[in-house]
Amino acid sequence: MNYEVLVVGGGPAGSTAAKFLLEEGIETCLIERNLEFKKPCGGGIPSAGLKDLGILDEITKKLKFRRVKKVIIIPPYSEPLEVELQKGEILIFNRFEFDSFLRKIATEKGATLIEGEVVNLEKNKSIKATVKLKNGTLREIICKYLIAADGVNSKICSLSGIKKPNFFWTISSQIQINSELQTEACEFWFGSTHASFFYSWVFPGNNYLSIGTGSPKAKELKNFIDNFIKKRFPSTNISDMKLRAYKIPKWEKRPFYMGNIILCGDALGTVMPVSFEGIYYAMKSAQFASEAIKQKNLNIYEKLWEQRFGRQFFIMKNFQDYMFGDDKRIDKWLNKHRNPHIQELAMALWLRKEKTSNLTPLYLKAFGSLISRILLPQVKINM
Ligand SMILES: Cc1cc2nc3c(=O)[nH]c(=O)nc-3n(C[C@H](O)[C@H](O)[C@H](O)COP(=O)(O)OP(=O)(O)OC[C@H]3O[C@@H](n4cnc5c(N)ncnc54)[C@H](O)[C@@H]3O)c2cc1C
Repeated sequence: MNYEVLVVGGGPAGSTAAKFLLEEGIETCLIERNLEFKKPCGGGIPSAGLKDLGILDEITKKLKFRRVKKVIIIPPYSEPLEVELQKGEILIFNRFEFDSFLRKIATEKGATLIEGEVVNLEKNKSIKATVKLKNGTLREIICKYLIAADGVNSKICSLSGIKKPNFFWTISSQIQINSELQTEACEFWFGSTHASFFYSWVFPGNNYLSIGTGSPKAKELKNFIDNFIKKRFPSTNISDMKLRAYKIPKWEKRPFYMGNIILCGDALGTVMPVSFEGIYYAMKSAQFASEAIKQKNLNIYEKLWEQRFGRQFFIMKNFQDYMFGDDKRIDKWLNKHRNPHIQELAMALWLRKEKTSNLTPLYLKAFGSLISRILLPQVKINM
């Protein structure tokens, strides 16, 4: 079997890459290890992100989703901060349905979808991938480019000697909603008794709540989630829930490709520091990688990424490194968001996916001295 592009991993990054490649008439094969897989994920996506990717209307017509009415931020010490969302800016999807839907779009465009796993790679002028199909048989696929969209544990990285992304651990669960647990808000809880370099969250899905927390250390997870549940649901018995631990990438600048192997989404580590939002950025990385393949110039990939998100990721990573891990600092920083102007800027950057060049300088200005301590003199900010 010969294809111009082999995409490994049928999550948001892989299916989006396949879709954009097929729209350019580039023959593409998409391999997904397990078509029944449901990624542990809050499933929260800003509607502006889906609009930017050109699928908002279609996906909201065809899939069930939940519109979030409010964001509640709970600092370690101070009173909660509530932000009303007027226009359904955050949508919550079931990840199994979301991923299956994106794969359907890719196959409707003409992608070949195979359920299987790449078990070997040989690289010469072209790439020969050995794929183990679900029934155990082996199949060889020859391609010019291979997109590694196989997530944070990327097997393609292992097989081709590329370092995998660093990561945080998460532990999460979905619990059935009853009248007591009803909420229409996304909650972000900060504090070192229940999260480390992360926040704990409650997201409302259709008939369920997604809850979880994170830490750099796996051994802290169980203790953290127990503490969080005691804090958030002090009078509810939800002890029989099924917990899942999973890695989430830590953004760090890494090579975007090696030879003709191109990394996208979690395999590259494209999760926004502080918010830990990954779906939109995984899909955008796939769009940019497809554009680079179309133009037969892989250097374009990183350039497109840098132009659109480079500065934002750089700043948020510095925020994360400085702020997280210190409850007093994070409390102070969150409290600044009570100022309606800062709140508006933060929302515009996070939820409306505004171009960085318009807003980041204003956001930075708002934090004045704090920013200068963590960023300067590494970055020059024109205000
Ligand atoms: C607990 C948790 C909560 C999160 N909540 C949110 C949220 O609310 N909003 C948000 O934006 N982001 C969230 N994220 C991040 C988000 O889930 C990821 O950033 C996003 O899924 C990345 O998409 P991807 O396609 O790169 O990788 P993935 O979604 O991980 O997809 C990789 C795909 O590759 C397949 N695969 C793996 N190995 C192979 C192989 N060898 N061969 C073939 N296929 C393979 C997998 O089965 C999978 O389908 C969360 C992450 C976690 C862990």
